Amino acid sequence: MYKVNSQDVIFNFKPNMEAVLKVPSASLVHFDSNDCFFQQVTSNDDVLSEVDQNRLNPATGPVYVEGAEPGDLLQVDILAIDVAESGCAAVVPGHGALKDEAEEAIVRVIPIRNGAAHYLGLKLPIQPMIGVIGVAPKAEDGEWPTATPWKHGGNMDTRDIRKGTTLYLPVAQPGALFALGDVHALMADGEVCFTGLEIPADVLVRLTVLKGVKSEWPILETETETMVIASGEDLEEATASASSAMVGAMARALDVQWEEAYILASLVMDTRISQVVDPTMTVRAVLKKDVITTERILANL
Ligand code: CA
Ligand code: ZN
Repeated sequence: MYKVNSQDVIFNFKPNMEAVLKVPSASLVHFDSNDCFFQQVTSNDDVLSEVDQNRLNPATGPVYVEGAEPGDLLQVDILAIDVAESGCAAVVPGHGALKDEAEEAIVRVIPIRNGAAHYLGLKLPIQPMIGVIGVAPKAEDGEWPTATPWKHGGNMDTRDIRKGTTLYLPVAQPGALFALGDVHALMADGEVCFTGLEIPADVLVRLTVLKGVKSEWPILETETETMVIASGEDLEEATASASSAMVGAMARALDVQWEEAYILASLVMDTRISQVVDPTMTVRAVLKKDVITTERILANL
């Protein structure tokens, strides 16, 4: 069993990064992950403008996976996400879907007891998920702050990236150079107020190289669905990128005219908003596995 500790972090996904650990394909790796504020927020009296902005969105890693080469996929099986006993959320005027309506910057430390977040007198069952998860980008795509999601993954803030699911990331550099952080104990689609329930966590994943399986965007497999997760300057661009990748794969998987697959997508493929608050916005195109299996989608991207 391998482990990466919480002080081994990156703040940018770069084409060239120095790995902190090298593992064979199919290894189990624990990641000790920090919250998006690097634990600088500990009470409701903390003032966000005073936190060190250079230490936001740390991702633990990167890990070099032996055998991974550009043109492969890195299969990330998410086996466990064990969160801390409390997390925090914040309103930052100027950020979020209601950036002009929000007048006061507040932070709220929210305790978690017996599997539920306790907030405003409500008990909200937690659903831990990983906000930032990715690999080194292509050289031509350049360097990406951990706050910004793109083809390499990054801050996709997608609530389906949770225990029991499998993320497939496009490998762009030898070893893939995988890192993760920014776990949320709970977050709804959209993440409208700019944060989830931000929380440190111990994340266990299995990292496996899939040789010669290509994808432009990250793909997520849940118990029942396959998703293309795409990001763009706005929701229209993200929706088009996610849909285009899925419709193309559907047409090839079924060996039908592209336009027929486009009609089928309109009948059975959902588009769902992941988040509208990061520097690029994220949408997933979602297809049920009983229409086309994940394996056939992956083989036809
Ligand atoms: Ca995030
Ligand atoms: Zn977060």
